Amino acid sequence: MKCPVCGAVYRSAMSTASTCRRCKADLSDLIRLHDQAVWYHRQALYLLQQGNYAEAEANNKQALTLYSSNADFHALAGKLQALQGNFADAIASWQQALQLDSQNAIASTAIQMLKSVMSSEG
Ligand SMILES: [Zn+2]
Repeated sequence: MKCPVCGAVYRSAMSTASTCRRCKADLSDLIRLHDQAVWYHRQALYLLQQGNYAEAEANNKQALTLYSSNADFHALAGKLQALQGNFADAIASWQQALQLDSQNAIASTAIQMLKSVMSSEG
């Protein structure tokens, strides 16, 4: 998670402070929102394992509403959209994930696979 003010990386596991170590901005609200978003994201992952894609997508959307700059949330959104046959939205979600984190493994693998499928179908 990054400080929205100065861009410094904030790691809540390493510190109990809720202010940015670089610019001292108060990040407590953001941290709370991020924690809630991660909770929804985990619910979504659990529902995905159960094969409940629609509920998983609803939970992941909640995560994205609370905190939209986490690449993993967008990557999961893409996966859920693809699983439900909605490839146009899935590609948009994966591209969003890669914009936030060009190293995001889920999104880059998915887009590469999709590109090879589409090119082989001509
Ligand atoms: Zn900062």
